[in-house]
Amino acid sequence: MELLSVIVPCYNEEENVRYFYEELMKNESFFKQRELDVEVIYVNDGSKDKTVEEVKKLHAEDERVKLVSFSRNFGKEAAIYAGFKKAAGDYAVMMDADLQDPPHLLPEMFKYIDEGYDSVATRRVSRKGEPVIRSFFARMFYRMMNKMSKTEIVDGARDYRLMTRQVVDSILALGEYNRFSKGIFGWVGYETKWIEFENVERAHGETKWNFWGLFKYSIEGIVGFTTFPLSLASFMGVLFCFMAVVLIIFIIIRTSLYGDPTNGWPSLVCIISLISGVQLLCLGIIGQYLAKTYLEVKQRPLYFVKEEI
Ligand code: UDP
Ligand code: MG
Repeated sequence: MELLSVIVPCYNEEENVRYFYEELMKNESFFKQRELDVEVIYVNDGSKDKTVEEVKKLHAEDERVKLVSFSRNFGKEAAIYAGFKKAAGDYAVMMDADLQDPPHLLPEMFKYIDEGYDSVATRRVSRKGEPVIRSFFARMFYRMMNKMSKTEIVDGARDYRLMTRQVVDSILALGEYNRFSKGIFGWVGYETKWIEFENVERAHGETKWNFWGLFKYSIEGIVGFTTFPLSLASFMGVLFCFMAVVLIIFIIIRTSLYGDPTNGWPSLVCIISLISGVQLLCLGIIGQYLAKTYLEVKQRPLYFVKEEI
């Protein structure tokens, strides 16, 4: 028998814990036929509701249900890492508790694993049920990201992935503090099969992401997987130096021919504001990288576990 570890990050998902379990176990006959043992690892990411109690109840009914509970909310990325750490399986799959990652895709995913793929990833083809502005910015982010970074980051990709032990171990080897899973999965490589499905809306409760949260997450992705903004800052520096030299020459010649050196101070103010703006922007870009480096250098643990079953 081989073992499949199902990793479920949960943050205030009391209504979904059991529901998820039931939906997952609808695959029971498939698991039998594929000779798979299953362990379901719920990672409680500092929930303030009854998520932990719900998981404990499930564990009392079924020993295959396990729990890692954090001391506070550390974010989904930390929860994913903790899940992978605890997973003992020959295969591991990451799924959201809200059933936006349909468990009925598992047999299809295993088909590709058995064909020899190392990992099977999913992407949703539509963003149905999502606010229009959010979809727009998400699309822009992916387009920009793929121009800037060598690591392929697929638009609409979900964290729902089935992978072999080898891939899991590779992901665990990346112990960075600023984690951006979508990038990390692509970065480690291996043969990946992509399958597509229509967007499913959340079963119960509400999404934990607001616009600001997503924005900060996208900065994480950019800073973590490309240094292109830094090159852009240097490029702008060179460009503006060149423009300044041309201007200086122009002004020297004009003043010696026509006199009146004080003429044109409004344009001077414009130029100064423009250039100081660009300077601050570049400083900001450098600051972003510096801040991430600072967090990385501190080498803080990604999470603390309060309780484990
Ligand atoms: N989640 C988490 N920690 C957080 C935020 C979310 O573990 O700080 C979990 C959440 O419980 C869910 C999954 O991550 O299982 C995806 O969250 P959500 O459904 O809110 O995101 P969306 O599907 O809207 O992108
Ligand atoms: Mg969701």
